[in-house]
Amino acid sequence: MQQLMDNFNRKFEYLRLSITDECNFKCNYCLPDGYQRTQQKQFLSELEIKNLVQAFSELGTKKIRITGGEPSLRKDFTSIISTIAGTPGIEKVATTTNGYQLKKSAQQWFDAGLDAINVSVDSLDAKTFHLITGKNIFQKVMEGVAASVQAGYKQVKINSVLMKGFNDLDLSLYLEWIKNQPIQLRFIELMQTEDNAEFFARHHLSGEKFKQMLLADGWIQKVPLSHDGPAQIFSHEAYQGEIGLIMPYSKDFCKSCNRLRVSSSGRLHLCLFGEQGVDLRDLLASENDKEALKSRILQALESKISGHFLADGLMGGTPHLASIGG
Ligand code: SAM
Ligand code: SF4
Repeated sequence: MQQLMDNFNRKFEYLRLSITDECNFKCNYCLPDGYQRTQQKQFLSELEIKNLVQAFSELGTKKIRITGGEPSLRKDFTSIISTIAGTPGIEKVATTTNGYQLKKSAQQWFDAGLDAINVSVDSLDAKTFHLITGKNIFQKVMEGVAASVQAGYKQVKINSVLMKGFNDLDLSLYLEWIKNQPIQLRFIELMQTEDNAEFFARHHLSGEKFKQMLLADGWIQKVPLSHDGPAQIFSHEAYQGEIGLIMPYSKDFCKSCNRLRVSSSGRLHLCLFGEQGVDLRDLLASENDKEALKSRILQALESKISGHFLADGLMGGTPHLASIGG
């Protein structure tokens, strides 16, 4: 089978697929003014998604994460899950969600073939959660997390963006929560995008400092597994849950890059930051274009560079992560 491999011997078996740019939250670091519908955008149809995933699967992709914007806003979300899960060669289907629909739909998505869920919970304090997301629904999201654990997902992970002045004081609450819960908490270092420079300057918190704090508290860094990608994982004998740290500004972050991205308008992005993407859309409508699609993807990968230049303040034109599927 053909393999997606770049010129730095990085293998890509993981695709993050955005199915919409739209979102119903107003996270202060992402879409503080909410989603702005500037032009009539046609997001990928279910048929286009099917053809895309089939081509990627034939190139060795094994895991797909459905993201956005907020992916669960799509009315055909459950059906998209089934389509992807039913594609030969796809071993794992995951999603990243703000949790708005989770309480109602966790079981339905599981039954459709979803294997793993990441829920964004940026604070464990209801008021701070409201302040960050613009939605006063902390309790509902937490009930959604509990419903996911109940539904039987192999993995329920929580994403939390580290932000000075917002959730830096919540650490003890988070730790208490995962003491007896098999949940992986993933702290993500705030990334600067084109739109959030001022916010970033005020609220960025160093992931490295956070890591040193964990090590001092007896957390032990686990040997990375190939599918961990750039996340560093920590465990502690007194806790059932784990902590993951995602530090995009750390020196070797891009060395373990294992993912490609396709935006909701069908552009292949080789990196979250730094390029405009390669348009695949004209080859997605018909199954007959599959070989041409595979060639275009393979050819695009030839130009994947070794890493991003975030630490130099270069965001490569990415306005916010909702636009590319964070
Ligand atoms: N709406 C869904 C959600 O929030 O989970 C999925 C899309 S969101 C863009 C995916 C992830 O990117 C979320 O965990 C979010 O917290 C994270 N994210 C968004 N903007 C970010 C930024 N500037 N820095 C770090 N993480 C960010
Ligand atoms: Fe929406 Fe997710 Fe961005 Fe929050 S982080 S505004 S939930 S896309």
